[in-house]
Amino acid sequence: MSPAGSLVDSHGRTLRDMRVSLTDRCNFRCLYCLPETEAAQNFYRGRWGQMPESKPITQEWVPKSHLLSFEEIERVIKLAVRLGITKIRLTGGEPMLRQELEKLVARIAAIPGIEDLAMTTNGSLFAEKAQALRDAGLRRVSFSMDSLDRDNFKKMTGRDGLESVLKSIRLAKKIGFAPLKVNAVVIRDINDHEIESLVEFARGEDISLRFIEFMPLDSARAWQREMVVPGTEILRRLQSRFDLRLVVNENLSSTSKRWAHADGRGEIGIIAPVSEPFCGHCNRIRLTADGKVRTCLFSVTEHDLRSILRGGASDRELDRWLRGVVWQKEDRHHIGEPDFVPASRSMSCIGG
Ligand code: SAM
Ligand code: SF4
Ligand code: SF4
Repeated sequence: MSPAGSLVDSHGRTLRDMRVSLTDRCNFRCLYCLPETEAAQNFYRGRWGQMPESKPITQEWVPKSHLLSFEEIERVIKLAVRLGITKIRLTGGEPMLRQELEKLVARIAAIPGIEDLAMTTNGSLFAEKAQALRDAGLRRVSFSMDSLDRDNFKKMTGRDGLESVLKSIRLAKKIGFAPLKVNAVVIRDINDHEIESLVEFARGEDISLRFIEFMPLDSARAWQREMVVPGTEILRRLQSRFDLRLVVNENLSSTSKRWAHADGRGEIGIIAPVSEPFCGHCNRIRLTADGKVRTCLFSVTEHDLRSILRGGASDRELDRWLRGVVWQKEDRHHIGEPDFVPASRSMSCIGG
């Protein structure tokens, strides 16, 4: 178990970053996360010949009574911050679907010791609450946007939502959320032809565009390695088109390698968990919407914090429990190895 006062695992990593999922539900059906649309099924059928034999994850939405309340989330975050967590990212599912989100943000923003409070969203509903979230103390937002082509966006997300996401990104910039990041999951033969145009967009807006390798976290369990566009390939292509300078990053726990354009407008990040894993420096822990602690994206075991919270545990007991859980954090993922076991839930339930 980690020493009192800190969250250290048995591999010597100190945890600083907590991802808090606010709901497992989502208004999108991204083909790399919840591939339930006809277009997504057709894509995978085309790649596999038919859908793979391996069992899809049956998506049973978390009942409302199992969702952690704002009070419970605040208590867990306070405890985690006392144990050294400094970075909180709100995620989901789609976090904007959580009612009165701005009230939760205000509670979290008031916790002393949090150096970075951010949120990841698909951007479709963000504009309605952008100012309220900013006023409540949210400082950073990352948007997910995989395509700039209306039809392709729809194919990838299952929704005709490109315009609303673009509007949200521009509004976030205007209101002063910074630094602003846009994440794009790259899938071969789906949106890899858009890499350059996405970068052009980010340059035009002077924001950061981060490319993420497709990971086996889709609910259909239809991921194939051939669909992954390796980070090195993305970089090679971008270097042949743009004048890029490596941004030296002192933070070893950072998931992305970054490049700036020579003229200083816009930035590129490449997150390559499949081809260049960064588990050795992982400092993250996840809290699911139904109160389970996950020590790795690919955990096959979850730790039931909700029962303990609701069973009346004292802060001291929770503290000891959490340190014991963190101690067991997995050393790395096993993607591509014969012993790889897919995660028990899809990315929308885990909280990316
Ligand atoms: N719904 C929000 C959104 O899409 O931004 C927040 C939750 S989503 C699960 C968080 C991030 O995970 C998104 O940037 C999404 O692109 C990424 N993601 C989801 N499934 C993924 C997969 N199979 N491989 C890589 N990234 C994935
Ligand atoms: Fe929803 Fe985000 Fe998953 Fe897309 S990636 S289905 S927006 S949770
Ligand atoms: Fe951390 Fe697990 Fe992701 Fe590796 S796979 S970086 S250990 S969460």
